[in-house]
Amino acid sequence: MSITDIQGNITYVNDKFCEISGFSKEELMGQSHRIVNSDYHDKEFIQNMWHSITQGYSWQGEFCNQRKDGHLYWVDSTIVPLLDKNGKPRQYISIRQDITELKDNAAISIRQDITELKDNAAKLEQFKHALDASHDMALITDTKGRIKYANPVLCQFTGWNKAALLGQHSSLLDSVNTNTDALAVMQHNLIKGESWSGRLLNRRKGIAPLPIAGQATPADPLEYWADVNVTPIHDADGTLTGYVQIQRDITSQVQREAAVRQEASDTDARLAISVALQQSSPIHERLINVLDILFALQAFDLQRKGGIFLKAKDEDYLDMFVLHGKFSEEFIRREQRIPLGACLCGRAAISGEFIVSDDCFCDPRHDHLFDGMQPHGHYIVPIMSGDNILGILFLYTDPYPDQSESRMNMLAQVGDLIALSLLQEQAQVALEMARDAALQTSTTKSDFLSNMSHEIRTPMNGVLGMLDILKDTEMSREQFDLVETAANSAEALLTIINDILDFSTYHY
Ligand code: FAD
Repeated sequence: MSITDIQGNITYVNDKFCEISGFSKEELMGQSHRIVNSDYHDKEFIQNMWHSITQGYSWQGEFCNQRKDGHLYWVDSTIVPLLDKNGKPRQYISIRQDITELKDNAAISIRQDITELKDNAAKLEQFKHALDASHDMALITDTKGRIKYANPVLCQFTGWNKAALLGQHSSLLDSVNTNTDALAVMQHNLIKGESWSGRLLNRRKGIAPLPIAGQATPADPLEYWADVNVTPIHDADGTLTGYVQIQRDITSQVQREAAVRQEASDTDARLAISVALQQSSPIHERLINVLDILFALQAFDLQRKGGIFLKAKDEDYLDMFVLHGKFSEEFIRREQRIPLGACLCGRAAISGEFIVSDDCFCDPRHDHLFDGMQPHGHYIVPIMSGDNILGILFLYTDPYPDQSESRMNMLAQVGDLIALSLLQEQAQVALEMARDAALQTSTTKSDFLSNMSHEIRTPMNGVLGMLDILKDTEMSREQFDLVETAANSAEALLTIINDILDFSTYHY
């Protein structure tokens, strides 16, 4: 059970609601029931419900809801408006019963009915009535695949009215991008008189995005993923009379699964990139490895090219530092240096913003064009240190690249990791320069000391020699003592000079 205010925000839930939905009370309070919405029901269904309760009438119906863990469950709901003294709703109370099991049994029984269906007009009519009330989309075709019956849910969901569908081939609902291998397996099974279940990419009625020459065509919003079950119908003699197709829209589920897969591969890539950047190889080589890891991800596989621009401090341009992939000579020549503000990279270098560009031919910011350029998209990732721009990581993608939160976060983090590596590299270079300068100073000092010592030792030896000769001449006692003192002082000075010479040859 749950209670909401008139906006539909939950103000009370009982334990059973939490148990069935998998959400805690804290997670549900203040939220709309959208939190359990499975996207199974169309807009009209929800609007009818709201129409009744806002008019002060109770509403009863079946909701297909989604648990927190993604599993679907069915509830039979009665929503009762509590009215104020003017007869206007002030709260809504919803009382529900879990009917998931009943629904599953009903689905099984429809399947059993299909397999037991014989060419019995009364039974077929009865069966169509059952399908009319089914929440799944259903079609019956003849043996050639021509539609003989379509239920209301299918007409409503696909946008085709019944009259337009009757007599058409069921492939009318196929998307041009559907998996032809899966269709071939389906045909193969049906020809053998066996049923087939699987996922197919189908399409609702409507005009597809128009292809414009030279531009990429965006994804078709009318396509949907269907969980399809096709079963042959035989008459009493076992002759094939047609097929029943039951399908359910599972687009959100397929998208969720794709998002989970992509998040896993993005996480792996981020890890591999941080390992690649910590290697001891030259920075240029490490950055090429980073690009290779990114190119292996989905959405990069068609282009497999990109690079890194660096911006020197106080300069108003970007210089190409790494370029990886197949680029034209014209591109290499023209893009060696680009001014800030030019094209996508120059713009990102000014704003510091992460740019995603869907199609080079439709994006007015992509103002650098080249001969023979093919439609492509871009991720333009600023490489920042605080508010300072160090450079730009630019990646070519297929047109209309993924803009999911996980992909954007991963690339922004790659930008941060590259920034860190560039800063470490700068610090390393500065350290090496300081060490070289210190070594140079020390060598100069040693050379000076060594020179100086040599220069003093020679005349000092001359002085000592002369004093020795002087000692051998006739002198008074007093004169001899003075010469002796001079000789001793010269000896002491020579020892100091020899020590300086030895010291100057040491290297630290
Ligand atoms: P919404 O943004 O809700 O809009 C869909 C349409 O509903 C709008 O176009 C509008 O016509 C109408 N609408 C929405 N809010 C109001 C409003 N406050 N007043 C008048 N009209 C409005 N949904 C489920 O999927 N499962 C449930 O179990 C479920 N239980 C509910 C129980 C209660 C008591 C109430 C009040 C609502 C319940 N809902 C349930 C409906 C839910 O609140 C959402 O409207 C629904 O899930 C669709 O969500 P949405 O975001 O797609 O569309």
